[in-house]
Amino acid sequence: MTTTEPILTLRDVSKSYGRIDALQDVTFDIRPGEFVGLLGPNGAGKSTMFQIISGLFAPDAGTVTVFGKSHAEGSAAILSQLGVVFQARSVDLDMTIKENLAFHGRLFGLSGRRLKACIGEQVERFGLSDLQARKVRQLSGGQQRKVEIARALLNGPRLLVMDEPTAGLDAPSRRALVQDMRDIATEAGVAILWATHLVDEIEGADRVIVLNAGRIVADSTPDGLRETTNTPDLTDAYAVLTGPQKAST
Ligand code: ADP
Ligand code: MG
Repeated sequence: MTTTEPILTLRDVSKSYGRIDALQDVTFDIRPGEFVGLLGPNGAGKSTMFQIISGLFAPDAGTVTVFGKSHAEGSAAILSQLGVVFQARSVDLDMTIKENLAFHGRLFGLSGRRLKACIGEQVERFGLSDLQARKVRQLSGGQQRKVEIARALLNGPRLLVMDEPTAGLDAPSRRALVQDMRDIATEAGVAILWATHLVDEIEGADRVIVLNAGRIVADSTPDGLRETTNTPDLTDAYAVLTGPQKAST
């Protein structure tokens, strides 16, 4: 465990939609380079939390600081160092990989050789170099997801938040993506907050935050979760922490 300052801090964050308490008193930190799983069933509040971290809306109560600042103090400075992969697909299907990345890069002030180099680095990282001129519509689901992640990494973020990034992928593609992202966290020193309802994706995480019905019910290492719930594997630990789960896709 590192002693460096957290790059993401949530303190007593709450958010309701009418009578639905989507988040209640959520408190945690993320430090540089950590790979943290945010594990919770559908409706737990994961996407709401990501929207608040991204500054799309403010919490009803509590504070969020990213790189030491709140969104009210300086959203532009935060967004220049934050990578976000939303749950819903947000890449333009009728543009090529290169066009998608170039457009996004320009939004971050990249241009000319630097833009080209940043795009080159990311397409190579994700094995997309030979497909750059292809329209995103013509790619597999896994490749489309990689384009989105490559785009989120273009500006060299220090923190990447990913909301169910494996949605719609088959099991081998899911495993490959998890491994890729672990490697990126290690190589590039990027902290990753990875939301999922699938336990196998976060088995290798440094830490797992378990969210259920808007509340954090555990924040520990995978081993720590097994120990505190006295269960042999994470799936059992998750079931103990969140109650019986409906089969989910
Ligand atoms: P998750 O991403 O973990 O599935 P969400 O953050 O999407 O959870 O949702 C948390 C709760 O808030 C759910 O009960 C959901 O139905 C509700 N919710 C989410 N967004 C809205 C909204 N815009 N209006 C009303 N209720 C919402
Ligand atoms: Mg969600």
